[in-house]
Amino acid sequence: MARKKSVPDMFDVVIAGGGYVGLSLAVALKQGDASLTCAVVDPKPMEDLHKDPRASAIAAAASRMLSQLGIWQKIDGEAQPINEMIVTDSKLRDAVRPVFLTFGGEATEGEPFAHMMPNGVMMPALYKAAKALGVIFFAPGTADSFRSHPDHVELTLEDGALLKSRLLVAADGVRSRLRDLAGIRTVNWDYGQSGIVTTVKHERPHNGRAEEHFLPAGPFAILPLPGNRSSLVWTEKTADADRLVRSDDFTFELELERRFGHHLGTLELDGPRRAYPLGLKLARDFVKPRFALIGDAAHGIHPIAGQGLNLGFKDVAALAEVLVNARRLGQDLGAFDVLERYQRWRRFDTFQMGVVTDVLNRLFSNDNDVLRAVRDFGLGLVDRMPGLKTQFIKEAAGFAGPVPKLLSGEPI
Ligand SMILES: Cc1cc2nc3c(=O)[nH]c(=O)nc-3n(C[C@H](O)[C@H](O)[C@H](O)COP(=O)(O)OP(=O)(O)OC[C@H]3O[C@@H](n4cnc5c(N)ncnc54)[C@H](O)[C@@H]3O)c2cc1C
Repeated sequence: MARKKSVPDMFDVVIAGGGYVGLSLAVALKQGDASLTCAVVDPKPMEDLHKDPRASAIAAAASRMLSQLGIWQKIDGEAQPINEMIVTDSKLRDAVRPVFLTFGGEATEGEPFAHMMPNGVMMPALYKAAKALGVIFFAPGTADSFRSHPDHVELTLEDGALLKSRLLVAADGVRSRLRDLAGIRTVNWDYGQSGIVTTVKHERPHNGRAEEHFLPAGPFAILPLPGNRSSLVWTEKTADADRLVRSDDFTFELELERRFGHHLGTLELDGPRRAYPLGLKLARDFVKPRFALIGDAAHGIHPIAGQGLNLGFKDVAALAEVLVNARRLGQDLGAFDVLERYQRWRRFDTFQMGVVTDVLNRLFSNDNDVLRAVRDFGLGLVDRMPGLKTQFIKEAAGFAGPVPKLLSGEPI
């Protein structure tokens, strides 16, 4: 790769991975301190980001951060607020699905606890903001290997280009190559399940209601999108998910309808379908000297609570706050004691969410009648306890625990 004009010999921060998490860290750092030099490396051409057909549930705390970064106000017209959430638990053949739990949808008055946002809207907005702030992109470009030195780190890209920086941040997703190269071990297991993601159009309006149906193979989530459309996250055993994704439209739609039901009228597929293998992967360490993990590179969790990306946004807010404060104090951004502040802040919270999603998935993804009776009793109990429901909403909105400034909607 030809050396780009005005590329510094030494960056302050190089981020490997320009997904949601890597891009928002780049924006947060440059907004926190414009003099900080920052590069992002990603194998995807950034011009194609609008083609991502998926959508993500963005918790209220994350929208506050994106507002503070000047992104949310540009795209909120494309977001669908989640006004209400219902939970059911039944067998596939049950004619009626009793609702065991309902949540009203506000984190604070007038502030929905989450929005659904198309990835193809938010990713380009993050990229544009990063470019405008002077972040340098090596995309398409792939991080291949790195070496740490006492005062810097050298990242080699697949095309042989060499980038030097004070700190290397790995935001390269759940199968992070850099995490493995850093020798960071993970707590790791496969659920034997995959999440099928697709979009449907339906005849009747959803009124901003999200639905989570616990079926024997796992959760089937219907998440409202603008218009009469919904995004689906449909969990099945991996072999069944692969078979469904490969099946013809008629078979797929038939199986879809059995799970979706008829309450929103006739259904029509409105996008591609893809299955994502699901597992739990928690990094034992989040940092090493001159190296930090964020997002799925640090923690891949089950999507049962729609919290994976929101955990990643919390990492972004915490790491940006730690680094910008260190910069203001004239400290070395790659020093281990600086990075340890980030690790202390984020590791326990992440581990807790990993355990919660794991237990929920084990409890709900089965066809055991005794377990079903116990869990339905539990859901019914929660439904009658407003205090507990308020706590769950706070958790889902991303406001539990020590919240970094950006997630509270404050500047760093
Ligand atoms: C079925 C499903 C549904 C989900 N739904 C939700 C939801 O509703 N809400 C929510 O909060 N979370 C959800 N999640 C989780 C969410 O998708 C992830 O947590 C989120 O995508 C993580 O973002 P990331 O930027 O850390 O990683 P990724 O999105 O995986 O991005 C990693 C980036 O790194 C790049 N990369 C890879 N290798 C290299 C390399 N060697 N060098 C440089 N770059 C590299 C990739 O190209 C990519 O751009 C869901 C997950 C699944 C599987």
